[in-house]
Formats: sequence, structure tokens, C-alpha cells
Amino acid sequence: MKFEIKNYIAGELIAPIASQYLDNFAPATGELYSLVPDSEAQDVALAVESAQRAFPAWRDLGAEGRSAYMLRLADVLERDIEKFALAESKDSGKPLSLARTMDIPRAIQNIRFFATAILHAHTETHDASPAMLNYTLRQPIGVVGCISPWNLPLYLFTWKIAPALASGNCVIAKPSELTPMTAYLLAELCQEIGLPAGVLNILHGLGGKVGEAIVSHPGIKAISFTGGTATGSVIARHAAPVFKKLSLELGGKNPVLIFADCEYDTMLATTVRSSFTNQGQICLCGSRILVERSLYERFRQDFVQEVQKLTVGNPLHESTRLGAVISAGHQQKILGYIALAQEEGGKILTGGKAVKPEGCENGWFVEPTVIEGLPYDCRTNQEEIFGPVVTIQPFDTEEEALKYANSVRYGLASVLWTQNLSRTQRITQAIESGIVWVNCWLMRDLRTPWPLALRFKTSSKESYPLILSKTFCGK
Ligand code: NDP
Repeated sequence: MKFEIKNYIAGELIAPIASQYLDNFAPATGELYSLVPDSEAQDVALAVESAQRAFPAWRDLGAEGRSAYMLRLADVLERDIEKFALAESKDSGKPLSLARTMDIPRAIQNIRFFATAILHAHTETHDASPAMLNYTLRQPIGVVGCISPWNLPLYLFTWKIAPALASGNCVIAKPSELTPMTAYLLAELCQEIGLPAGVLNILHGLGGKVGEAIVSHPGIKAISFTGGTATGSVIARHAAPVFKKLSLELGGKNPVLIFADCEYDTMLATTVRSSFTNQGQICLCGSRILVERSLYERFRQDFVQEVQKLTVGNPLHESTRLGAVISAGHQQKILGYIALAQEEGGKILTGGKAVKPEGCENGWFVEPTVIEGLPYDCRTNQEEIFGPVVTIQPFDTEEEALKYANSVRYGLASVLWTQNLSRTQRITQAIESGIVWVNCWLMRDLRTPWPLALRFKTSSKESYPLILSKTFCGK
């Protein structure tokens, strides 16, 4: 009998009403190791009723009361960090070291950040004396739906639920059915700290079934969604006719622009990370690496050499840098794109194949893959692969680099490597992406939802990070 994950509704861990379950596999071993509720509309209805009942008291508890619950939740999560990291690694195939140092710490940070931010929240007042004082009142909307993907399971799940809860909303949340385990464990912690029943409800199951039921339910006033662009468009179609508030964080095909004057060693090490962290399954990974021609040969050689040092292996081993990709289907999708790249004239410089590390022979692994020789507008360079696959291309001028960078329909993130401040100003204004990292990658300050991060060399030995807002840079 496999372990049965439960839904969390009205403070209770319960089976789905129809008693239907889906299989949950460990990507590193292919083992079927738990069953996930295949929830449907009737489970959503139950959760919405419970959230609606809980809402007035949660709203009226005030910021301090809500913050206290959330801080307790963050504390018990921190106490259990190793248990959660192990569960995340098993459920998603990612290296345990990554879950321990990035996923779970960031989940704790998400909860703490919004639990304390709400204590300092303020609104504007416009004094049109003597006749009038206008002020903005921010109120919770009621019941909110949060839907998150599988790549950073608890990290993105908590990033959605924490601001909603801190603001006084009650939540119906759905993690991806591919990675349900840490959301389930979080429900156990909610019980432990005595979170009032119905404030947070966690439903498991398929996007097209329980996900759509959440999006369509008239009692759910807003949807916060992170996932694929195609899914985002389906959700927008459901939400538009009923004017539901929507926040959509979708896919990316992010460019990395490397100029010859960059701080080379930091650039090289960071570009390896920005390409292959989490097996390239981060929407913010850079997958199109554009290199100034005078640096191209040196970069190509060093980059391939560094990538070949990355160990693809058992996620539990400390030396592992790349674990498994999320599913057999996703592995096939990635390998399909590698085949397409070759059809399009690309040359594989390293990687390109599935691998079966020792002890994980039935898991779904793909070598870190570097491809060159492709035009900027081919499908490989235009479509999101979401795996350990990058292309490298030379460019001659800033204009050419920008043309390639801006050629895709995505506009999520980009990375720029240069020491030239004027060029930085020009490119960060001209590049069409919501996030621009300059001389760094994945540095985040949760106060800046769309950060522009800059990192410049201050002496021959040290660099320091600076996070500037786009407003500062005149964008
Ligand atoms: P999906 O869009 O397939 O799924 C995301 C979530 O939505 C899952 O919980 C999924 O459930 C659910 N879902 C699927 N269909 C529907 C529907 N019709 N109605 C409601 N919910 C639905 O994305 P992936 O899980 O494959 O995640 C990878 C994608 O996420 C990539 O494109 C990546 O770029 C993007 N992403 C974006 C980020 C950002 O901040 N911009 C961050 C991280 C990832 P189920 O799993 O059951 O299908």
C-alpha cells in the first residue's frame, strides 16, 4: 500500500471526495512511491466553503495576529528543514544540496518576509487641503486561488500563499500533481501551529481538472498562477468573462549577453550556474548565450570544459550538480529538442544524451548540453525547452546582440556581463525583459518584484552586489 497524500481542507487532512488517486513517482529512481488525490470540483466547493467561513475572522485578526501565525509556521519549517529538503529532492529529482540551500530556505524566507512586511504596510494619502483628504484603503479580497508548478515546488508555492495570507485573504492552493509532497508536509505544520481552520486549503490533482475548477469557481475572487505560457492563456480565458483578478508568471527564453570586457572568471562560473541549476528547470535560467565575437573562442572552450565537470547523478550525493528532470515525458521533450537542434544545423559541443547514473538506472536524467551553430530565429532558439540545454552564438555589435536577445516572444529575464556603465545603461533600457541581472544571476530582494540587479567590480579582488530599481535607471 503506497503512502496516500491528503487534501487539507477546513483544517483537516482528508481524502478526496471521489476517493480517486494519481501515481506519484520519484524522478531519480522511477519509483512509484505515493498516491496523490485526483481532486475535482466537489473538493474545490468544500474548500471554498471552508475558506469563506474562515475569512471574516482571519481578516479581522489584523496584521499582527496573522503575522504571528505565519512566523510560527516559518519557525517550524526551519526546524524541519532537512526533512523538507529530503522530501523535495525525492519528489522532484533535484540535488538534495540544492533543496537544502535554495528551495526550503527560500520558502522560509517567503513566509517570514510577507509576515513582517505586512506589519509595515502603508498606503498613500493625498492632502488637497482644505477641502479634501483622499486616502487609499487596501483590503483583502476574500478567497484567493494559488496555483504553482513543479520546478521549485515549495519555493513557488509559499511565494504565492504567503502574501495572500498576510494580507488577510484565505487561500485555496494547488501544487503541481508531479510534486505534491512538501505542500502536504506544510499542511501538517499548519495543523501543528493551530492555523485557524479554512484559512489555508491545499488541494492536489490535475491542472486540467481541479486547477480549472479553482479558476472557474465564482467564490474565488483572484488567481495567482505560475506555470507555462499555454496554461496561462487557458486560465486568462476562464477568468476574463467573470473579471477575476489575475497574476500570471509564465515562461521564459532568457538571453545572456556576454561582452569581452566582462569580469571573466565570475562570468564563467555564474554562466554555468545560470544555465544548469535545477537541471535548467528554472524559468529564470539563461538558455541563449550570446558572446561578443572577440571572446567567443575562449568562452566556448572554457565553458564546455566547465560543463563537462558537472556531475549528473544521484540527487542524494553531495557531489551531484544535476539531478533528474521531472518526468519521463519531460525527458523525452528535452531529448526531442536536442534532436530538433541537430536537424536545424546545430552542433552539440557536449552532452546531448540521456544518462543512467549508478543506483538511478530507472530515473530520468539528461546530460548538460551545449549547442552552437544555430541561427537566432530557429525553433531551438525561440521555444522554451526548460531543461539542461543551452545554445551559444557569437555577435559583433551591441545592436546585433540586442536584436537576437529581443527576438523571442518571452520577456521574463536577461543577464548582462560587462564592466562598461554606459553600455549597461543602454542595454538595460533597450532589452525587452522584466528582469535584468548585470554581472550576477538570481540575486533577489523580495521588495523588488521586477529587480534590476547590478554587480560591479570595486577593486581587483572584490565585487559587491547592488540592487537598483528600474526607476533609478530611468526605465
Ligand atoms: P504548467 O503550466 O503545466 O502547470 C503549472 C500549474 O498549473 C500546475 O499546478 C498545473 O497542474 C496547473 N495547471 C495546468 N493546467 C491548468 C488549467 N487548465 N487550469 C488551472 N491550472 C492548471 O507548468 P509546469 O508545471 O510544467 O511548469 C513549468 C512552466 O512554469 C515553465 O513554462 C516555466 O517557465 C514556468 N515557470 C514560470 C515562472 C515565473 O515566475 N515566471 C517560475 C517557474 C516556472 P498540473 O501539474 O497538474 O498540470
